[in-house]
Amino acid sequence: MNEKIIYLDYNATTPIHPEVKKTIVENFDIFGNPSSLHTPGRIAMEKINEARASVAKLINADPEEIIFTAGASESNNTVLKYVVCSPQSGCNETCIACAGKDEIITSAIEHPSIISTMDFIKQQGGKPVVLGVKSNGKIDLDVFKKSITHKTALISIMMANNEIGVIENIKKITEIAKKHGVLMHTDAVAAAGRIKIDVKELGVDYLSLSGHKIYAPKGIGILYVKKGSPYCAFIHGGHQEAGRRAGTLNNLGIVAMGKAAELALREMGAESPRLKLLRDKLRDGIVKSIPDVSINGDQEDILPNTLNISFMGAEGETILLYLDMEGIAVSTGSACSSDSLEPSHVLLALGLTPELAHGSIRFSLGRENTESDIDYVLQKLPPIIAKIRKMSTAYNRSKK
Ligand code: PMP
Repeated sequence: MNEKIIYLDYNATTPIHPEVKKTIVENFDIFGNPSSLHTPGRIAMEKINEARASVAKLINADPEEIIFTAGASESNNTVLKYVVCSPQSGCNETCIACAGKDEIITSAIEHPSIISTMDFIKQQGGKPVVLGVKSNGKIDLDVFKKSITHKTALISIMMANNEIGVIENIKKITEIAKKHGVLMHTDAVAAAGRIKIDVKELGVDYLSLSGHKIYAPKGIGILYVKKGSPYCAFIHGGHQEAGRRAGTLNNLGIVAMGKAAELALREMGAESPRLKLLRDKLRDGIVKSIPDVSINGDQEDILPNTLNISFMGAEGETILLYLDMEGIAVSTGSACSSDSLEPSHVLLALGLTPELAHGSIRFSLGRENTESDIDYVLQKLPPIIAKIRKMSTAYNRSKK
């Protein structure tokens, strides 16, 4: 086993940034309940307010528009379930369904925290409309426009896809949504820290972020809710977050998220072009040295750190395990589906055959990667693919 791990799975999760770690350690004794009026409580609230301002700055929001959650799955659930929440479920507001609208438009390449929630909403009487995507992973804007009806309550389209890195035109999609008076949500988890996010420019009503994708710990995230946009709490209880999300605030997680947001804003300008160069080197090196590969997703509107590639005649899981033995950590499609043998729903939505989807690897780069990491992968990968293909009767038959 190799000593050093070359981690190329930053879209699954990121290690904690050393400066975030330092901030956590420095604030370790900030134990006060931020809702308390006494000094320990006020000290904690002061730290939380600083973190709120820093997260707001990352997406050009106002601090009052930021609600801290336990991660993006919760943020996504909160927004989508608003459509079917009702006074009976403890909400004082008129939910969108009560106002006579019950359709939610989303895409076939969303994260499971959107897709599974849509399945739940369907059981509750809501009507999901799931848009397919073009073979490059982009939403077809004409198809999208036609899918909006007078019953459309909400549109939820991710800003960038976590598996293929493709960036959707959220500004344009929101413009269309707004022309029809429809609320707009975007899951910006994969985009954060890699491309600019400006909620004022995008015009969205709701936006989700997750701490552990921007070098903060797991279990902390945010939901941005634009001032004046309708909202219903998902978790009821105390009056935290101005009654919008109950639960004693996660002091350390929030302070860490604030620091991570500050660093993302500061480092993105240099880090994104650096990662793009490394990613392009990896992509071009693979294409040059390995036959029968195809790159998945649009390569123009793509996150700078992501490369999704299919290797004909080689199982993704086998490639992953061989790479792991060489100290290289990658993923097949989404890490969320590592316990499932189903091919990635994202790659299938792009029109890949199940065989090719099964033979896909996602490389996602981050702050600790260097050029020598890429050289190492380019040295180890070609013989691995050749070895796997040698054992594949289907591949060898196709070559005859
Ligand atoms: N959306 C996307 C695009 C993600 O990649 C993830 C995490 N895999 C989530 C939502 C869920 O985030 P969390 O882990 O914070 O619940």
